Order: sequence, then C-alpha cells, then structure tokens
Amino acid sequence: MVDAGQNHDDATGGGLPPMVVQALRRVSRPDYARWEAMMHASGCCAQPVRLAGRVLQADPASGELHVVYTTAGEADQVLLKACETRRATRCPACAAIYRGDARVLLRSGLDVDGSDQASDDAVGPTAFVTLTAPSFGAVHRFAQSPATCRPGPGSKACPHGRPIACVEPHEPEDAAVGEALCPDCYDWENAVIFNARVGALWHHTVIGVNRQLANAAGIRVRMFARSWRLSFAKVVEFQARGVVHVHALIRLDHLDESPTVLDASDLVSAFAAAAARVTVQNPLNPGWRVRWGTQTDLQPIPPERRRVAAAYLAKYATKSVDGAGLLDHRLTSNHHLEQLDLPEQLRRMAAVAWELGGRPDLQDLNLRAWAHCLGYRGHWLTKSRYWSTTFTELRARRQAWRLDQLGIDPDDRHRWVGEWSYQGVGHLTAGDAWLAGSAAAGRELNRRIAWEER
Ligand SMILES: [Zn+2]
Ligand SMILES: [Zn+2]
Ligand SMILES: [Zn+2]
Repeated sequence: MVDAGQNHDDATGGGLPPMVVQALRRVSRPDYARWEAMMHASGCCAQPVRLAGRVLQADPASGELHVVYTTAGEADQVLLKACETRRATRCPACAAIYRGDARVLLRSGLDVDGSDQASDDAVGPTAFVTLTAPSFGAVHRFAQSPATCRPGPGSKACPHGRPIACVEPHEPEDAAVGEALCPDCYDWENAVIFNARVGALWHHTVIGVNRQLANAAGIRVRMFARSWRLSFAKVVEFQARGVVHVHALIRLDHLDESPTVLDASDLVSAFAAAAARVTVQNPLNPGWRVRWGTQTDLQPIPPERRRVAAAYLAKYATKSVDGAGLLDHRLTSNHHLEQLDLPEQLRRMAAVAWELGGRPDLQDLNLRAWAHCLGYRGHWLTKSRYWSTTFTELRARRQAWRLDQLGIDPDDRHRWVGEWSYQGVGHLTAGDAWLAGSAAAGRELNRRIAWEER
C-alpha cells in the first residue's frame, strides 16, 4: 500500500516518473542513511507497519523512567516493522526470511547446520516419510510411462454419461491435472473430511508407530517411552486435486543406556505398519473411517543424505505456503468463490467445505473458518516439541539483531516499557517501496549464494 502521488511535483521531477523522483528525493535527504538502516532492519519488508513511539527504561535504583529510544529521531519519525508474512505474493522479503527459518528449523533437527557435520553420529536413526490421501474418484493426472492419463476404452462411460478413460498425455503443469473426470461421481465431501481430519490421523499414526517400535524391541509401550522418543518435522503439501499429503522427517532418539537396538529400517517398518492400520473416525459417515492412501513412501536416511533430505522437505514447506492456487484469506461467504481465479477442482472443494461447515453435526471441524484451505486446519510446517529450535526462537534472535542495528541493547529488553502508536501500513511513497524492493532483491541473491555454497 502506497500513498499515491505524495511529494509528487513535476516542476522538480523534470518529467521523470513520480516513483523515480520520490526515490531520488529519499536518497538525497540528509537522514537517508538512517532511513536505509531502518529499512534494512525491517528486513527490506515490502509492506512494513509504521509505528511512532518510544521505549522507556526504569532506573533500577531510583525507579525513574528515562527514554532509551524514540522514533522522533528517525527519518519520517516512524519505525518500520516487518510484516512477517509467509507469502511471497504479499511480501517477498519477509517470505524469504520465513523460508530461511524453515530450512534452519528442518536442518537443525538433523544436526546439519552446514558447519557441524562431525556431530552426525549423535543423531538417532532418521527416516523420510510421505503419507498420501486415498482416492476420492478419478482425476486427470500426469503419467510418465505410458504417458497416458487414464488408459481404457473411450466408449465406456460413468452413470452421468462421461468417459471414464482419458488418453491425453498431460504435462505436470497442465490445468487439467487434478480435475475430476466426472464432478458428479467425485466424492467431494469425503475429500474435505480427509483434509479436516488429517491432523488427527497423523497424531494417531505417531502413537501407532511407538506401539510398533515397542513391539519390535520386545518391550512394553511404557518402557519404550522411557528409553526412546520419536521426534518429527512435517510439512503438508496440497495436491492439484485439493487434498493434502504429509511429508515428514522422523528421528528416533535413544534417551538412556537401555540395551535395545533400533535402527532406521525398524523405524520405516513401524511407520509402514502404522500407516496401513491406523484410522480415525469420520463424522460424516461413521461406517467409513478416515485413513491414508496406499501410496506411501518411506525411506531410511543415512547420515550423508540428511542434508539433502532436509533441503527436500524445505522445498515442500515453501511450496505449500505459496499455495497451489489456494486462497489467501478466510471466506466470509461462499458468494465470492465464483469470482476468484481458482482451478475448478479447488473451487468445488472450497464450496463443499463451506457447505459442510453449515451442518450442525460437523461444527467441531469448524469447516467454514478453514474452507479457504479446503478443510485443512493446521499449519504448513509443524514439528514435535523436541525436534529442534522453534520459529519463535529464530524470530527472537532476529529481533535482538534488529534492536542492535537501531543502537538499542537487546539484553536490557526485560526492563523496557514501550509506548507505540500505529501510523499505517506500507511505505510512504512508491519510491520508498521501490528502494526497499531493490534492497530485498539484492539480499535474496546473497542468501541464495550463501545457501548454495553450504
Ligand atoms: Zn514484509
Ligand atoms: Zn486426462
Ligand atoms: Zn459420473
């Protein structure tokens, strides 16, 4: 959001576009260095929150308050605070920071932070797991060999008179991929219920894995829990057909000196058994339990492959946040679904989620609030408690760095009182936004180089 035309004056612009004039004005101001430092401290955010105010600190002896920071000394008398969105469509700079955090979080759970490979042996057996949704009806798909979507006689039709075969060789990016062959045959409702219940299904699967591992070790579950702990980081990925798949890194920690030995292949077998067996209740139809699809992928990760596995999962994390055409915002009614630029399959999923959300017997699933995520109501990236550092810790570390950039000692934080007033969102001019955007692009380039070199 930019206040259009502010400071625009053709007489001094010499016919240059207003944005360029604004940018030139900014860089020639005496307080430009201060503005630039603040813009960098906000992570080059594209739509920063503008705050005015001050930070007070009490003198430990006298209790007297004195000002340790005030925006009165800043350019434009405001502090720019990063928007912290995860979506690149809203702010590429903050989304890049989120991506970086996701990588750190995933890698640190495998103890591969790029500098400390020697400690690889300290990490327990690890595995990479992909659990999928079952089929809810035939959809167009990308197939490699033969490159036919759904082979079969073209003459055969479903009860609605639509062909049940498709001999097109679709490309992975084809708009048709993921679309139901017959929208009237497709089981939209159970597809939405799967998304809504996938969190519970995962939770019960993890419990099931513990049980399987205890069996493999020949000990009781309670004994097992004293000696071993399963940690994970998981990412949900939306398929073109509008249902989620779960990709996860799993780590098995040995907590004591008990003589039982479990390795990555035990971990994989336990997951395979649990994923095949575990189901959760389907509130729509108690006779049809919610379960995983049969297309599971379970791989032990040898130490030398850990970094690749973490990077692979981080890619999914980023892809999910940017969303395969998913909606940014909660729906407030189902009317505006028609006007949105969405693939038909996803629009139908959102509409069905909204519809089911109106049913009194499904209130627990809160489907209207999550219709924009097609019924899925969790985070894109989650981790178990002991996996690694958290997003919160990473943010706190970054905040401390930003304060340091502003000349404030972050260690004094606990003694502060802030007085802030909200001034608005976004840069003051299109010129400022352009300067921030250029700085963000430069940063992103450096970050890419740094990551590729690691
Ligand atoms: Zn931002
Ligand atoms: Zn097809
Ligand atoms: Zn049909």
